[in-house]
Amino acid sequence: MAQVAQKNLTKQRAVVLQVIRQAEQHLTANEVYDRAKQLLPTISFATVYNSLRFLKDAGYIAEIEFAGSASRFDKRVERHDHALCVKCGKLIDIDLEIPQELVQTAAILSNFRPDSIEITLRGLCPDCTE
Ligand SMILES: [Zn+2]
Ligand SMILES: [Zn+2]
Repeated sequence: MAQVAQKNLTKQRAVVLQVIRQAEQHLTANEVYDRAKQLLPTISFATVYNSLRFLKDAGYIAEIEFAGSASRFDKRVERHDHALCVKCGKLIDIDLEIPQELVQTAAILSNFRPDSIEITLRGLCPDCTE
């Protein structure tokens, strides 16, 4: 994974990046804001939000978007897959070996030139199945 030099980041952006890199899970913008405030009490939600946009566009972080719920931000920017609990919202990383046939079939169906596929497994996490 290519780590981009952090020296050009403003203090606010560096704090937002630090929060995401230290998180044990994929945070929403609100969760990033709550943690960033503890490190930099003067930071505003708008600044956190704009920093997230900047860091995503610059390739420092990835955003995982869900229809109908808040995006999560991911410190892993290389291709990987996720499992999402439909009951509690827990989102974890998984690394699947994607069969080349699946990529080719998707390319044929969409008429797109294939680049990558990310898969999200939806279901119940171990805590929610008990
Ligand atoms: Zn769950
Ligand atoms: Zn992830």
